[in-house]
Amino acid sequence: MSYLYIPAKWDVEFLHSAGEFTTRFLQNLKEKKIYGVRCPRCNRVLLPPRRVCDRCFVETTDWVEVSDVGTLQSFCVVYRKFWGLPDPPYAIGVFKLDGSDEALVHFIGGVDLTDPTKLEEVVKIGRKFRAVWAEERRGHILDIKYFEPMN
Ligand SMILES: [Zn+2]
Repeated sequence: MSYLYIPAKWDVEFLHSAGEFTTRFLQNLKEKKIYGVRCPRCNRVLLPPRRVCDRCFVETTDWVEVSDVGTLQSFCVVYRKFWGLPDPPYAIGVFKLDGSDEALVHFIGGVDLTDPTKLEEVVKIGRKFRAVWAEERRGHILDIKYFEPMN
């Protein structure tokens, strides 16, 4: 039996509670500080911070400030329009920030995305990137505008 598909469109506004850990993480961004949390068992610094280590299933303890500089682990360039995201092209990177054992996903900026050949020269796995902070910060992930490549 094959099922029928019923077209539908969802356009629902709602408030999502950020919870204790994400709220604290976002509030610290206002001060240009990025914090993870340490797992007392495996000693990893988890980023974004969360209450329970997903490997050890124990509660995390200490808040640890990590660098706003990190290593690019992966990236993609987006050439299609997606609802709620910037007009293409834009790039998203996975950054392992110094002092953290995990990676943060964020926009890549300060590079020319229109020429793929030039892009390959600048955006490289293993290259160091630094956060570029928004002038006015409000406790939001976009308090970091994007990460730009370092020399
Ligand atoms: Zn752990």
